[in-house]
Amino acid sequence: MSRMLDVDSALKVVLRAFAPLPAEAVAPRDAANRVLASDVVARDNVPPFRNSAMDGYAVRSVDTLAASRSDPIELPVAANVAAGDRSAARLEVGHAIRIMTGAPMPDGADAVVRFEEIDELQTGEYRDRRSVRVYSAAAPRENIREMGEDVSAGDVVATRGTVLRPAMVGLIAATGERSVLVHRRPVIGVLSTGNELVDAGSTLKPGTIRDSNALVIAAMAREWGARVRLLGIARDTVSELTACLSDASELDLVVTTGGVSRGDFDLVKDVLRAVGDIAIWQVRMKPGKPLAFGTVAGTPLLGLPGNPVAAAVSFMLFGRPAVRTMLGDSDVTPRTVEVQSADPIENRGRRRHYVRVTLKPQEQGPAIASVVGDQGAGILSSLAAADALLIVPEDVERVEPGMRLRAMVL
Ligand code: AMP
Ligand code: MG
Repeated sequence: MSRMLDVDSALKVVLRAFAPLPAEAVAPRDAANRVLASDVVARDNVPPFRNSAMDGYAVRSVDTLAASRSDPIELPVAANVAAGDRSAARLEVGHAIRIMTGAPMPDGADAVVRFEEIDELQTGEYRDRRSVRVYSAAAPRENIREMGEDVSAGDVVATRGTVLRPAMVGLIAATGERSVLVHRRPVIGVLSTGNELVDAGSTLKPGTIRDSNALVIAAMAREWGARVRLLGIARDTVSELTACLSDASELDLVVTTGGVSRGDFDLVKDVLRAVGDIAIWQVRMKPGKPLAFGTVAGTPLLGLPGNPVAAAVSFMLFGRPAVRTMLGDSDVTPRTVEVQSADPIENRGRRRHYVRVTLKPQEQGPAIASVVGDQGAGILSSLAAADALLIVPEDVERVEPGMRLRAMVL
């Protein structure tokens, strides 16, 4: 009596249980991949002062108007200014100031002539009494970075809802912001279930396998921006399952793997039904299909199938949007690209098929997607080898070579 759902309807129901978590203040250095809960306004200009974009000589452009390759002009050098120096003295008419990239522009100068366009001359007896020969006219503002040309003080640097990618973190830091409001990171509990499981790292005994799901799920959750609490392995007994879920109320999401199909020991669903408010769905997808969803101790619980690839793909489809929603990201649709299938693929049973493929770019047109390895729900090696999951829609019974479809890039 479990419900049949397509992937989109299942995701809709899942997402109803999640909202952005409360905001907290963090330093820009801790803000990458987080989502702003309020606008950020620039305290300072970027750049904070007018400076040289090149190594060369600061000049008054009018003084160089007559310069040409055949008839260069010569200007005496009045001073030297490097990045980190305070502003040099004012540039007097008919002079030049040697200047390095990032050094403040002297008052009076309105252009920088690059070293490539000048000759430095030694005049007189002292090394420091030089002049510079200029071979072309400098345009006003040439090779100068104006104060605030990147960001002006008072400008909105980033609006609420922005996902803080590395460049934005740098920009916020450059404007002088010491803390930003971002949504709290969700804490996700990861529980593996099954009598056959031993911790990864343990020696195998007859009949046992190592728990790989917990590592895959934890790595994905962290990559998406969540914190992870490993809840270990629960034997297939009501008491162990119940015990392992006892701290669920401290978590933002519980993810279990295994125990949701129809086997004799697939107890998760029974325990969950007893301790929480959980529905078991049959989602029209492959790999995947059985999925439990509901709440335990008030916390949302996502019960993934045990087969490693089914668990991973289900977590990508339903876990990632949940995590990103809690982080405050309003765009949780997976990034897909158009690809061209190299292979025929059968897809009977009206399920959405996520096929492990490698991608090879073509000179023109979409990348070529080639099926990689065995597609069994337990074959982790082909997921590890895949670049993407090719999406075969429910209503496509057979993919012909050359057919264009979408793929989720891994
Ligand atoms: P289940 O859904 O519990 O019947 O599990 C389906 C298959 O996935 C079985 O072959 C399990 O041994 C395997 N499996 C379940 N949990 C894990 C896990 N944490 N790591 C690796 N394989 C697992
Ligand atoms: Mg099991």
